[in-house]
Amino acid sequence: MSSKHVIRPDMTVTAYVALGSNLGDSCATVHSAIQELSEKPGLMLVSKSKLFSTKPYQAIGNDYVNAVIALECSLNAVDLLELTQQMEFAYGRERSFVNAPRTLDLDLILFGQAQIQSSWLIVPHPRWTERAFVLKPLHSIAPHLVSDEMLALVRDQEVELLS
Ligand code: ADP
Ligand code: MG
Repeated sequence: MSSKHVIRPDMTVTAYVALGSNLGDSCATVHSAIQELSEKPGLMLVSKSKLFSTKPYQAIGNDYVNAVIALECSLNAVDLLELTQQMEFAYGRERSFVNAPRTLDLDLILFGQAQIQSSWLIVPHPRWTERAFVLKPLHSIAPHLVSDEMLALVRDQEVELLS
């Protein structure tokens, strides 16, 4: 991480990050990315969902492995996005086309109460309420954030808990 990242341990927020993978050893990738994120300066792992298996939704390729984690975060949101994008790149992700299969996708779902609208970062994530692969794992670690009504709206999407 570069020195320009500002760590403010006195000002932490809870950030929710969704992880997805459908190329390579996706379970190992998701486990290892969670571990790596939890060791970054300015981030502390608060909770992690189990892994879920998901049929590609608005995407192609193999089934996805998905999870959601909560991080106590003293970085600002843009620095957290930059860090997650560096990790995606390090895991070999190529942005070949929209919704292309990916070794690792890291999406910033919520960042405390922040509302951010810029050309490279939108928080809450613009599509989080449409995606069962976000809502189900998120509900398992933060049920107060996902209502039964929200889950009902995505019930047609196939998302299964991996044993
Ligand atoms: P998706 O995850 O929705 O399938 P991508 O991972 O390809 O799409 O993301 C495309 C772009 O979305 C990224 O380059 C990033 O700048 C932008 N983006 C905007 N808001 C967010 C967010 N909350 N989390 C992650 N990426 C975001
Ligand atoms: Mg993404």
